This record gives sequence, C-alpha cells and structure tokens, in this order.
Amino acid sequence: MTTDALTRTAEWPGLVNPDGSRWHYLDTAATAQKPQVVIDAMVRALGSDYATVHRGVYARSADMTLAFEAARRKVAALVGGAENELVFTRGATEAINLVAQTWGQANLKAGDRILISTLEHHANIVPWQLLRDRTGVEIDVCPLTEDGLIDLDAAERTITPAHKLVAFAHVSNVLGSTLDAPRAVALARRVGAKILLDGCQSVARLTVDVKALDADFYVFSAHKLYGPTGIGALWAKAEILDAMPPWQGGGAMIDKVTFEKTTYAPAPQRFEAGTPAIVEAIGFGAAVDFVQAQGLDAIHAHECALVAKAREALRGMNSVRLFGPEDSAGILSFALEGVHPHDLGTILDEEGVAIRAGHHCAQPLMAHLGVPATARASFGIYSDESDIAALVRGIERTKRIFG
Ligand code: PMP
Repeated sequence: MTTDALTRTAEWPGLVNPDGSRWHYLDTAATAQKPQVVIDAMVRALGSDYATVHRGVYARSADMTLAFEAARRKVAALVGGAENELVFTRGATEAINLVAQTWGQANLKAGDRILISTLEHHANIVPWQLLRDRTGVEIDVCPLTEDGLIDLDAAERTITPAHKLVAFAHVSNVLGSTLDAPRAVALARRVGAKILLDGCQSVARLTVDVKALDADFYVFSAHKLYGPTGIGALWAKAEILDAMPPWQGGGAMIDKVTFEKTTYAPAPQRFEAGTPAIVEAIGFGAAVDFVQAQGLDAIHAHECALVAKAREALRGMNSVRLFGPEDSAGILSFALEGVHPHDLGTILDEEGVAIRAGHHCAQPLMAHLGVPATARASFGIYSDESDIAALVRGIERTKRIFG
C-alpha cells in the first residue's frame, strides 16, 4: 500500500481542527487517534448492541458474549497467540502489575534477580520495585549502546542463573529503538529465566509472533493501537497462566463459591474479576481488524519513511540534537539547544502541531541522556509529510523567538 493510500483509507475525526484544517498530531506514541470504524463499532456496542456478557440468558447478551470473545480471539491472534492465553486488563501497566503480583509473588524469592534496562517506561520499572519491597528480589539494569539500543552484549556478560525474569521494552517509547527480541529470548533461555516483552510501542508498528519468538509474557495497550483507552492485554504462555494464582477476587473469576472455600475459573477468566470493559473490548477488536487491514508491514514502512524524512529535516537545522538510532521505529526524540522542551511544545501548539515534551515516564533514561526532558515527535498511520513541514516551521519560529 502506498503512503497516500494509508493516510486516506480511513476517516480520522480526531485530526480535524474546529475550522476544518488538519491538526498536526505528532503524539501517537502517547496515544493514537481513532479511525471512524473503531468509533462506530463502539457506538453500536454502547447503543443498539449493548448488554452484559457471560451471564445473560437472553439473546442480546449471548450475542454480546460472542462479540466480546471474538474480540479476545482477534487481539490474541494479532500477536500470534491463542484466546485462552489472552487476559484483558486495563492496559499494559495493569498487565505488568498483574504479572508482578501473581507470577512474581508466587515464583520469586529473596536472592532471585530481575533484569530490566535503562530505557524502560516506569510501567516496567515500578511494579518490579514493589515486588522487590515485598520479596527481596534484586533488580539489575542492562545498559544501552551508544545509539540507544538495549545492549545485549552487556546483558550476555552479566546475566546469571539467579536471573529469573528478563523484562524489556520491544520498542522504546522515547528512542524508538527496536529490541533484538529473538536474541533477548535466547539470552533469557540460556539461564532458565522467563521473558516479558513490553509491546506498547511495537504492536502498532511491527508484526509480532509470540509463538515464533517463544516469549513468556507480552503486554500492550489498545489505545496506542488505534483502539480505546481503558483496555489492554496480557498474553502469557498457557502453562504459565494456568499455574498463576488469581489476582483480584469477585464475580466472573470463580468456579464455585461457598463461605468455606472458593474455587476459581480457568485462565483467562480467573484474572478478569468483575464486569469487563465490554465496549472497550469491542473497540479493541475493531482496532485490530483495522490495523490488519492496513497491514503492519505497510504501516512500518510508512512510519520509517516519515522518521527518515524528519531526521533529515531536523539534522539540517542548527542546534537540534537527535536521540536514538537512525532506524527508530515511528518515534523521534530531540532537543533544541537553549530551549526547554515544554517551551518548544507550547510554541508548536500555537502552530497547530502537537508533540510530547517531558520525561515520557522514563526518568532513568532522561538521567542517562543527561537531560531533564526531551521533545518527541511520534508518527502513526495517518501521519504525512505536511506534519513534518509544520514541525519544521514551528521549530524555526521557536528559534527566532529564542534568538
Ligand atoms: N510501556 C511503554 C513502552 C509505553 O509507551 C507505555 C505508554 N506510554 C506504557 C508502557 C504504559 O502503557 P499504559 O499507560 O497504556 O498502561
């Protein structure tokens, strides 16, 4: 599919300014805008199709249950998994906390070690620190290469049989660097560790196959995949999920309840206490359909071309520092000398350009880069060259303002 076709194939109401002009939205790594098909699917689910799932004896509820479980199948299939391995969560953050509090609590003890990396999002740091406080596990941090990749050579030198879990971002939300995931899995296997991959930034840009990768846990959020907020996914190998103790208790996660004893439903229901996010799950499924119809290879090629153009344009400007590898996936962090990223972001907003300015929930990475914050432009299916041109115009104006 050509770049033009990609940007035209869907309607994006979120990209239209009140006066009808295009909003230059370059914050897709924070959250993606939604195509009309996802919005329509959710409006139907909230309106004419609305009913609860898993309980109703009436036809509407049975239909909604089928649609809800079909969404689970689609989401699982997106990463090459099966439906019994796919737990709906509130997002990637909740998915990692679930793994830490169930698998981690049940399997890790004082003296065991967890390997993360310098570029992790706080969602892949803090849950392990909470687990450390409860169990006494140790956390090691794998350094980065010069160009911002997780340094697997360094990991190879430091990993030991005491490491029971490796937890890495598949694509960095700040640097756009892509992990060599097969090599990371092989590394974990060598010492008998499990591996969790944070797929928040990869599922919307790369073809992921958890089976081919032989991953143990894979987590992601719907809202970065052109779907709604409030829902995400934990994929885990069936034998791991089946052996994990329950997390939250309540309705839907049980088999039989008496005051003396409760038995639990099999996975994935065991981890989904309470009425689920029904409408959001339908939207998640619609978003997966949409992304697959576009084709992940086409999306990836489209975003790589835009990042290459943006890099070239920004490199040509004095006083812009670029972060991350040349082939960063859809994400470009940068700094403008003498200008705080927040000031740059504010001026760009006046120009109709939305970027992210801040620490991107990756404060240890900011410390490593030696900056308090970066500016980040991130691209999606709908991004085009007019967005880059507007970004460049805005940076030039900022430079004039700051002399
Ligand atoms: N990991 C990465 C790499 C992310 O980019 C994000 C979202 N910025 C998260 C985890 C957390 O996702 P959520 O806030 O949707 O739970």
